[in-house]
Parts: sequence; structure tokens; C-alpha cells
Amino acid sequence: MTEELFREDATLLECSARVLCVDADGVRLDRTVFYPQGGGQAGDAGVLLLADGREFAVADTRKGTRPGEIVHLLAAGVDASALPPGTELRARIDAQRRRSHMRFHTATHLLCALVPHPVDGCSITDRYARLDFHMNEPLDKQLLSEGIARLVAEAHPVHHRWISEAELDATPQLVRSMSVMPPRGQGRIRVLEIDGVDLQPCGGTHVANTAEVGAVLVTKVEKKSAMTRRVILGFAEAAEGRG
Ligand SMILES: [Zn+2]
Repeated sequence: MTEELFREDATLLECSARVLCVDADGVRLDRTVFYPQGGGQAGDAGVLLLADGREFAVADTRKGTRPGEIVHLLAAGVDASALPPGTELRARIDAQRRRSHMRFHTATHLLCALVPHPVDGCSITDRYARLDFHMNEPLDKQLLSEGIARLVAEAHPVHHRWISEAELDATPQLVRSMSVMPPRGQGRIRVLEIDGVDLQPCGGTHVANTAEVGAVLVTKVEKKSAMTRRVILGFAEAAEGRG
């Protein structure tokens, strides 16, 4: 088991940790700030730092095969032989990449609030995010962009809390996603609340206030199938950069 520091504080960029084991898959630590790919959100990249200055690049982070396992995937060609179990190190994420994940992830919650239909797919990367809605009505790109901009300007606080599985069972309308079910069996479910805007189970990383989402635009709306409308989000600064 790895202590998941990112669940309580998404702003942590680094932590001290101890190596539990290393194998061909990657490095497992006793605690980490690295978010493992899941719930549609991409995994973190970053670096593991030894006290003597040696650095080990982490290309991605995934869940292991056992519940609660987090595997730090070392970049190609990185030799892990200097990381035996018990090694003390600093685990530091790529702050810019994570910041993008947090902005986009929070923006997908804003989109959920604007589009009152179930979600049947989600992908959050550092360059774009996409959300698939189970619906056949058309969606207006411009109106959605304006809706997101309004919720960002209104600066709603964003926070998480834990509810019991019984509480979730009593309020099934909380679950917006058809494709990602909240993890069961731990007795508690993490819910993400954007005050006055959105409330749903979510284990991902988010900014602390919708104002921090910044300039996010709907770059594309697609009809993926008779009952799926796909919405792609991008950063306005990237769109401007493309000229
Ligand atoms: Zn979320």
C-alpha cells in the first residue's frame, strides 16, 4: 500500500518517501505525490531524487495489479539498480504537467454542470481534455465556452470530502459517469464539490477555486455516435499560440 498524499492535497509537488520495491514495471514507494492514471486523468511524470544528487526520471504513473498499488514507471533507459528497497528519496512531480491536469479536470466538472446528461467517457491530459456525453441533442461550442468562462469568473471554491458508501447508495443521482464507477470496498467514497455548481464522486486532482481554471475553451464538439456527443477542451493560451 502506498499513502496517497495527492488525495488530500493536490498542491503538493514533492514529498520524502522510501522505496518498497523495484521491478521491471517500476518503483513502488511507501508514500507519493504522483497521481496514477485513473478516472480519465493521465498519470503524473516527474523525478525521484537521491540525497547524493542522482535523479531518476519517472515517465508516467499507473495503478498496480493489487488494490492501492501505485507504480512509478521509470523513463526508458533509466537504471533502477541504485534504488534498492529501503532507499530514502524525494519524489517530485512535473508541476506544469500536473497544473494542466488540475485545470482541465476541474473544467470537466464545470462542463458536467452545463450539460445535464450522463458522462460515458472522459480523458484528461496536459494538452486537452475530452468528455463524452450520452445524449443526442446538439451542443453549441460557443455557448459552452461562455458557460465555462462564467463559472471561472464567478470563482467558486472547490473542495473534496469523504462520504460513506451508504450515503452514496442513498443518493445515486450523485453519480454522473456511466463509464467510471466510484471505487467500492474501502467503506468511504471521495466526492468533489464545486460550491453551488457540481457535486460528484471523484478521486482526481483539481484546483482549489474555479478561478484557477483560467482560460479554457471548447475547441470542438463532435457527434461520435447516435447517442454520444464528444466535447474537447483546450487552453485558450495554446489556441492563441497556434495563431
Ligand atoms: Zn474530478
